[in-house]
Amino acid sequence: MDKQQIKQRIEELRKNIEKYNYEYYVLDRPTISDYQFDLLMKELIELEEKHPEFITPDSPSQKVGGEPLDHFDKVEHQIPLLSLSNAFNENDLYDFDRRVRQAVPGHDINYMVELKIDGLAVSLRYENGIFVRGATRGDGVIGEDITQNLKTIRSLPLRLKEPVTIEVRGEVFLPKKEFERINAQRKEKGEQLFANPRNAAAGSLRQLDPKIAAERALDIFLYGIGTVEGIELSSHSEGLNYLEKLGLKVNKERHLFDNIEDVIEYVKVWTDKRPNLPYEIDGMVIKVDSYEIQNKMGVTAKSPRWAIAYKFPAEEAITILEDIEVNV
Ligand code: NAD
Repeated sequence: MDKQQIKQRIEELRKNIEKYNYEYYVLDRPTISDYQFDLLMKELIELEEKHPEFITPDSPSQKVGGEPLDHFDKVEHQIPLLSLSNAFNENDLYDFDRRVRQAVPGHDINYMVELKIDGLAVSLRYENGIFVRGATRGDGVIGEDITQNLKTIRSLPLRLKEPVTIEVRGEVFLPKKEFERINAQRKEKGEQLFANPRNAAAGSLRQLDPKIAAERALDIFLYGIGTVEGIELSSHSEGLNYLEKLGLKVNKERHLFDNIEDVIEYVKVWTDKRPNLPYEIDGMVIKVDSYEIQNKMGVTAKSPRWAIAYKFPAEEAITILEDIEVNV
């Protein structure tokens, strides 16, 4: 491809990705599979890396998620809720490990490995231990205020075990059984079906009427801290233990490793075990455990440099979802 053709291909990819982002994040109604989407994004990132002169700040490779819906109040995140960069194979994980070690030479590195829950990222704010507000990730900086819908989640405590002021992050999801129940009910009523549990969870949380969310047994796992007042924590693993102590639901399936080879082995174990889980995961998240090293490495416009999402290979053949409607 000559320069002109490369530029054209980049523009075409951006246009298509923007359309798919809109369908996925705003309408909760994807028309291609995540696997197909990931391939397009990978191609765009690779072309931009090879030809940085074509990178623009508004490229989808530089942005998080989608625009917040207008009919919700907007919430500005004190600290942005970012996306994660992706790894698709072992080599990508070795590259990640190399980048981490180059950034902090001579440091011992521990990696926390967690399941990547396929749901919707949210931020919860507790003031003096009381749940006061919850928001979607939105475009990373501005999210939607979905407090009333979040209050319908049984596993989300309205009061913590300590009167702390904290902003926590997590993933709201729909268990597989609940997804099947809802779709079976919709089929019976002749309503269009949800594409997958992720889109069903997103569609349920972004309803103006909290009764709809309440009828669906949404669940939540918390996996991070945005800000916390008056508590000193030095690592992500300590942070997760602290969230558990507060009475928040943290996934037990997590493990700390001191080398990338063991991380890769653990990822392989879960690649085989994941169909047995009662909820969907689309990969594993690998995070540098030390907050000091996290801060040293910092973030890009789109994702932290100290974490990576390993994406599982697509489970089933590529499907076009055009017959499936996700709105309620
Ligand atoms: P992502 O899903 O690849 O990774 C970031 C997200 O992972 C976080 O925001 C968080 O919500 C989630 N997560 C789950 N478990 C976590 C854990 N333990 N720790 C930290 N984070 C955890 O990135 P994204 O920007 O949210 O979405 C991009 C993905 O969405 C793509 O990979 C694509 O598959 C899908 N997508 C699909 C379409 C489509 O048309 N099919 C369109 C847009 C996006």
